[in-house]
Amino acid sequence: MTNIELIDALSERGALELNEWTQLLSEPAEQEREYAADRARAIAQREFGRNIYIRGIIEFTSYCRNDCLYCGLRRSNARAQRYRLDAEEIMECCAEGYEAGFRTFVLQGGEDAYFDDDRMCALVHSIRVTYPDCAITLSLGERSAESYRRLRDAGADRYLLRHESASPEHYARLHPPAQRLDSRMRCLEELKRLGYQTGCGCMVGSPYQTAAELAQDMAFMSAFKPEMIGIGPFIPHKDTPFGVYPAGSVELTLFMLSLCRIMLPRVLLPATTALGTLDGSGRKRGVLAGANVIMPNLSPRAVRRKYLLYDNKSITGDDAAESIELLRGHMADIGYNLVLGRGDYSPSR
Ligand code: SAH
Repeated sequence: MTNIELIDALSERGALELNEWTQLLSEPAEQEREYAADRARAIAQREFGRNIYIRGIIEFTSYCRNDCLYCGLRRSNARAQRYRLDAEEIMECCAEGYEAGFRTFVLQGGEDAYFDDDRMCALVHSIRVTYPDCAITLSLGERSAESYRRLRDAGADRYLLRHESASPEHYARLHPPAQRLDSRMRCLEELKRLGYQTGCGCMVGSPYQTAAELAQDMAFMSAFKPEMIGIGPFIPHKDTPFGVYPAGSVELTLFMLSLCRIMLPRVLLPATTALGTLDGSGRKRGVLAGANVIMPNLSPRAVRRKYLLYDNKSITGDDAAESIELLRGHMADIGYNLVLGRGDYSPSR
């Protein structure tokens, strides 16, 4: 089959064979990428109209016990500036966000032992009772099944845990031996079982990644059927072992977004900050390729430049929650509206 036929087949079957994914993801031509983007955009508009959901992301701790080779927050990075927000500061972020119109708060951080289950549940509970009309999304990495259950009981609705790479060999080249793909996958299964709207995803263009690895990511996602998918380009961070590797391709990232939209028409799919960091119009291009979510930064301005997963992370302009009007304008430029509201996953219209 030609790549165009494969894109049509994906749309009909909702899945492809592994060798078909590999073919499709091996240096797709511009015309094929455009074809996928057109289809993906039409599907997104059919499912969601020209509406973009917004989520306010609060980066509440830059401490991390893990040592992911790509990430600026890795524990071996002695130059990283560490901070953690206290409960009061986090509640202030929510208050500011609520005022600005956000109805989903995303708490993201490194794996910081300080935020044990008692502290984390207390925090989730305060947000839950203060903002009963808001969704709470967590992105705290790997925790025990018991921890995920307690957080869910405390009021968390969604959980983002990118699988990072569905290939065990590739995963092992991105992480130290103590971090294992099977444990990450168990976490994802557990989150789903507990009724979280669950997000997985990966970077595009991480070191050693080829079309065969991306094919495995797509095959995994088509089987797992996440409610959310986070995909952005890899961007080097100078104080990590991967600091000398080139950034991932914006075009291939956009193509992956389009394929995700075609495969899972209802999936909540952000145009990520990393995409916006590599390309000034990355978020617009992401939306035009099928994305339907944008996650502006709600963290206090004083800490934003300390939460550096990669170099040159965009912290101003339409990445900042306080400039939501700017973002609204950028979306209006391409004919889209920002919608206020929780923007939950629903399996059908
Ligand atoms: N500790 C949490 C949150 C991780 S940060 C967790 O383990 O899930 C969120 C995401 O940023 C990661 O899942 C990773 O895919 C992405 N990320 C980290 N370093 C990056 C880099 N150098 N370039 C692009 N994305 C990166």
